[in-house]
Amino acid sequence: MPIEIVRKKLCNQPATIPRIFDPGVSSLRMGYILSNGLKWVNGTEIKFMFLEGAEPQKNVVRRAFQVWKALGIGISFKEVATVDDAMVRIGFDHRDGSWSYVGRDILTVPRTERTMNFGWDLTANSYGMTTAIHEIGHTIGFQHEHQSPYAGIEWNTPAVYAEFSGPPNNWPKDQIDANILSKLPANQVKGSAWDPKSIMEYEFGPGLVLQPSAYRNGIFPPGILSANDIKGVKSFYPVVTSKNIVKLKLNKSAVIKASSGGQDDYIFTAPATKKYTFQTVGQMDTVMVISEKAETENYYLSGDDDSGLDKNSKITLPLVKGRDYLVNLRVMFTPGERSGSVIVS
Ligand SMILES: [Zn+2]
Repeated sequence: MPIEIVRKKLCNQPATIPRIFDPGVSSLRMGYILSNGLKWVNGTEIKFMFLEGAEPQKNVVRRAFQVWKALGIGISFKEVATVDDAMVRIGFDHRDGSWSYVGRDILTVPRTERTMNFGWDLTANSYGMTTAIHEIGHTIGFQHEHQSPYAGIEWNTPAVYAEFSGPPNNWPKDQIDANILSKLPANQVKGSAWDPKSIMEYEFGPGLVLQPSAYRNGIFPPGILSANDIKGVKSFYPVVTSKNIVKLKLNKSAVIKASSGGQDDYIFTAPATKKYTFQTVGQMDTVMVISEKAETENYYLSGDDDSGLDKNSKITLPLVKGRDYLVNLRVMFTPGERSGSVIVS
């Protein structure tokens, strides 16, 4: 007897504008900036709010944030009450699909708009939790696995169009292209292997995949975080411990040790109440974030992204004597090891 396939509604990602670089930026440098640029600076507290929704629906999403956090990662999540405080704005519009912008692209979304939506009842069955974990995966910077160029999937294109133009998804051709058939550029994908068990993988019924032939009968991810998902998120967002944090001294440069995609973390205790300037020196693409370290949480003060530009990250701001300030430096691209430094003056 043929297995009956229960067709699911799938995540339907919003279109984004491709990033344009100056002609002087090499393709190698561009690739690193694209692959690392969507990830948050490690240590970021991602503040989210619900724009609408019933409590049981919100609770599924809150639990899904906890699932990611419980892995032991260096980013955290906090629910806030106002749009002005929120980076992630969550809606439950069932006329729309389920989707989320990817990583730091979220910061480009106008503050009046959602950055994440849930298009179906999250409490109906376990697929609700799967959906919420998947969309948060996008929010923290992960893309669809089946669109990885390393998946090597050869689609039965007419069958894919026929399947997804019908219920329950009813997608027009351009959405099928964007969500399934188009491959991500190799330089935008971290890692070099396809993980068909990933939470970022879709479920596909039989007859849609031609190659690899093992998946002709379909792809059925278990709907939970896979071993590779956990490894990937922990490698990009490791838990920050105080022993990894370098002390910055006034007017003394500290060598940046992180390679492309890595991060260095510093702490600076202000010796006086006055304005200080933090800057990187050397040819690197970096995102620098400065926050004030307080007892229970860190308060974001300022950030600067110099990626793809012929300038360095530089932040000037007033600090208070005796207080501790964290400087998180995500290196998008460096032409060589230890080729830059950071200095506070
Ligand atoms: Zn998705």
